[in-house]
Amino acid sequence: MDIYLSPRQLEMRAEVRAFLDQNYPPERILQIERDEEYPDDFYRECAARGWTGIPVPTEYGGSNGSVLDLCVFVEEVGKTSISMATLYITGTIFGSHALHICGSKEQADKYLPAIVAGDKRFALAMSEPGAGSDFAAMTTTAEKVEGGWRINGAKGPISGAERAEVIITAARTGTYPGESRQKGISLFLVDNPTKGVSFERRNYPAMKALMVNDITYDGVVVGDDAVLGEIDDGWLNLARLMDPERLANAAQAIGVAQAAIDDGVEYARNREQYGKPIARFQAVSHPLAESQAEIAAARLLVYAAAHKRDVEGPCPMEASMAKMLANNVAARATSAAMQVAGARGWEAESHFLRRNLEVRGCELGGGTSQIQRNIIAYHMGLR
Ligand SMILES: Cc1cc2nc3c(=O)[nH]c(=O)nc-3n(C[C@H](O)[C@H](O)[C@H](O)COP(=O)(O)OP(=O)(O)OC[C@H]3O[C@@H](n4cnc5c(N)ncnc54)[C@H](O)[C@@H]3O)c2cc1C
Repeated sequence: MDIYLSPRQLEMRAEVRAFLDQNYPPERILQIERDEEYPDDFYRECAARGWTGIPVPTEYGGSNGSVLDLCVFVEEVGKTSISMATLYITGTIFGSHALHICGSKEQADKYLPAIVAGDKRFALAMSEPGAGSDFAAMTTTAEKVEGGWRINGAKGPISGAERAEVIITAARTGTYPGESRQKGISLFLVDNPTKGVSFERRNYPAMKALMVNDITYDGVVVGDDAVLGEIDDGWLNLARLMDPERLANAAQAIGVAQAAIDDGVEYARNREQYGKPIARFQAVSHPLAESQAEIAAARLLVYAAAHKRDVEGPCPMEASMAKMLANNVAARATSAAMQVAGARGWEAESHFLRRNLEVRGCELGGGTSQIQRNIIAYHMGLR
């Protein structure tokens, strides 16, 4: 089933697995989620092992890895913790890809080596209270002032923002009556802390270690050198950033789905009712078997889409198909595994419940499954 993976990718996957198994056993994951302990040590170790350098070009100290490399890495982390996988996606992938897509030489010099070193984690602030799926409805503004820009508005929910050193912030810089609302959006690199930026943590039932925030921008002044890409053309660059984001999101969903099924299988083999392991009941084994087949198919789609992105460039339709399918499969897999575990699956500190809740959050980030269907339909010529 690993037809897309090279010996090097298989070796990296094994290294990541060994590291996570040794340092983040299931009880440690429950503890960091219970205590809302931001997984700083995980991030530091990723840097020490060269993994924060995967998406960074070699001239900046990275390993110039592919999107498929990133998917393999994130899938493995997702098996252990969606908080940690999302921290990596937002902290490392968003920053390096955004700089690659539209950063200046000065910005790349400033931030890319720091991403590799694990000293600069990124967050991507697009969503707003009134602009979720309809992101072009954003009301956060950036107005020109001497030597820079003043940002006012509110963003949220934003993954890992309070602990990020840099927040890529989308703001409206212009309106163009008669043209698309997508025109007039610009991107800014807002260092954290910066005067006027404040955070409130969202109270979500899972992914607590990630720390998902609402952000307020109250007269935040940044310099002209903080503009990422061209003024008013931020939408285009965000669209280009969405392929790797959605593919990584899909990969982490595959990871959590596989972990749920693995645990479900183990539970079904060990739990006895009516004098035999419940695995012997077809009603128990078949949902697990079906989910395993779905995971295998979704994984192939994710790898194929990532491969296409690496070889041919932008692949919005395939990225949306992979994200939608992987998250659907993961929702079914984590529900099936929870059902197998009966009342134990519903305990507050059960991994079965945790994974089921994580998939709900994972599905929302990067655009819901309905929005992915809209994108797929658009590329099919249906909209
Ligand atoms: C854990 C978590 C982390 C997140 N991290 C980030 C982040 O780092 N950065 C960031 O910018 N955002 C982030 N988000 C926000 C996320 O991208 C949005 O929640 C998502 O885009 C949906 O927006 P909304 O919640 O406002 O729902 P709404 O847009 O209000 O949608 C509500 C419902 O209506 C449906 N809907 C809306 N419009 C349509 C349509 N045209 N066709 C069909 N159905 C439609 C949606 O699918 C959804 O089911 C995060 C969210 C979560 C939960």
